[in-house]
Amino acid sequence: QIDIFPILQNLGIQHINQSCSTGKHWNSSNAQEGTVIISPVDGKEIASVNFANAEDFQNTVVTAEAAFKVWRTWPAPKRGDIIRQLGDALRQNKEDLGKLVSYEMGKSLQEGYGEVQEMIDICDFAVGLSRQLYGLTMHSERPAHRMYEQWHPMGVVGIISAFNFPVAVWAWNASLALVCGNVCIWKPSEKTPLTAIACQHIIQKVFEANDVPEGTSCLLIGDRNIGELMSHDKRIGLLSATGSTRMGKAVGAAVGARLGRSLLELGGNNAIIISKDADLEMSLVGAVFGAVGTAGQRCTSTRRLIIQESVYDAFSDKLVKAYGQLKIGNPLDENIHVGPLIDKEAVKSYLGSIEKCKEEGGNFVVEGGVLEGEGYESGCYVKPCIAEAKNDYQIVQHETFAPILYLMKYKTLDEAIAMQNDVPQGLSSAIMTLNLREAEQFLSYAGSDCGIANVNIGTSGAEIGGAFGGEKETGGGRESGSDAWKAYMRRQTNTINYSDKLPLAQGIKFDL
Ligand code: NAD
Repeated sequence: QIDIFPILQNLGIQHINQSCSTGKHWNSSNAQEGTVIISPVDGKEIASVNFANAEDFQNTVVTAEAAFKVWRTWPAPKRGDIIRQLGDALRQNKEDLGKLVSYEMGKSLQEGYGEVQEMIDICDFAVGLSRQLYGLTMHSERPAHRMYEQWHPMGVVGIISAFNFPVAVWAWNASLALVCGNVCIWKPSEKTPLTAIACQHIIQKVFEANDVPEGTSCLLIGDRNIGELMSHDKRIGLLSATGSTRMGKAVGAAVGARLGRSLLELGGNNAIIISKDADLEMSLVGAVFGAVGTAGQRCTSTRRLIIQESVYDAFSDKLVKAYGQLKIGNPLDENIHVGPLIDKEAVKSYLGSIEKCKEEGGNFVVEGGVLEGEGYESGCYVKPCIAEAKNDYQIVQHETFAPILYLMKYKTLDEAIAMQNDVPQGLSSAIMTLNLREAEQFLSYAGSDCGIANVNIGTSGAEIGGAFGGEKETGGGRESGSDAWKAYMRRQTNTINYSDKLPLAQGIKFDL
């Protein structure tokens, strides 16, 4: 059990009904009645919030634009130092914030702490990055000319995040965007606003101590209405949106219509290929963690196992046994493997997908169902289940955000790769094999079509050092490590003539 009230107090969530903040300034828009936030862990009310309204949105954008004019003048390494301090503040608040993530969202305590650790890691990454926002120099085709490129900040960056990584996704975006010289407006998921309010308090303390301008990091609590205002507003130069493909199609269309930039991180339908040359014990851990971890509510959760026919029976027996040992319950208890789904809507969608799979001919080797009774009062606890299915079932082609795992058989690796790729989404993928030829084929141009392709690691649990994101209906965006920072900046090519003539490119003559 958890006493949430001292934690809320430590994290600065003392007033209820906070709806938006530009930093020091908090507003409690009274446009709507307070929305009560209920924990999926025990079904209890945690606190209530208000949703920001259109006026809050307008005021926030105006303040953010003014902040940008100042923040962009700070040298990037100095901005990096502010993010270093943010990382330190997150270290100090890791325990409380991790617990609140776990209690508000329902993921295990270890994963709650892990999510805050990921925020700390990306802050460290961004600090180093603040001295490495490099452009290239090029040789000009004209004498006594120099060419180079510079990267400038975009301006106001909007961040829309999903419930399942309620704080890490903000940190991935904000830490990079801020060292790049942008200001941020964050609209978290309406299902997890309290962790967002906590983050805003943490960053604000750091900002206040360093006289960072008001409006550099803003928060708007709200639902899709605020997301839609952000999508249509041309003052938001880049909109980074994480969530379902349905949301991404709406955001992408609205931002595209104004020729703005969007960075989309959408749904996945991730598969592991289990080869006849796999280490089956290791594959089992990767598959089970991938399928049931975070109750199947990761964008990188394992949804499909594509298993070579000669090891199919042996591997599915192992899976059934492993599922029999899973402990489902309060995610704050360290012995528990599977916590709740986010809400009853998600439970409905899980049950609907099971029905649909059965209608299409799926054979459940581990049955699903909703848990009732002591410890399950929130009504959000479900049994992870496994169905033998075909890749072309409609339900298999669709991402259900719940612990439902589909098994399918293959004969040749070509066939397995074709099945792995034959879904609309393209986020994460993996092969379990000790055979070098198979591994290399899977990683080659003729292999996985996903943004993430792993060998002897499951589909979930990425590190911050690599660029994160996926292809096709996953949206094409990349966040976090590698050179993902370039998405948060605009590139400018500069040519400087230090001669006393004006030669034109391509040798064009123009005499006056
Ligand atoms: P969701 O699409 O319901 O909501 C995500 C966010 O978008 C919320 O803040 C919501 O208010 C907002 N939103 C919804 N409709 C909108 C619209 N029309 N315009 C603007 N904003 C809108 O998703 P969810 O249920 O919170 O999260 C689960 C989904 O997120 C899954 O599909 C999962 O795969 C995906 N996800 C992807 C990644 C990734 O990096 N690829 C990471 C986490 C989650």
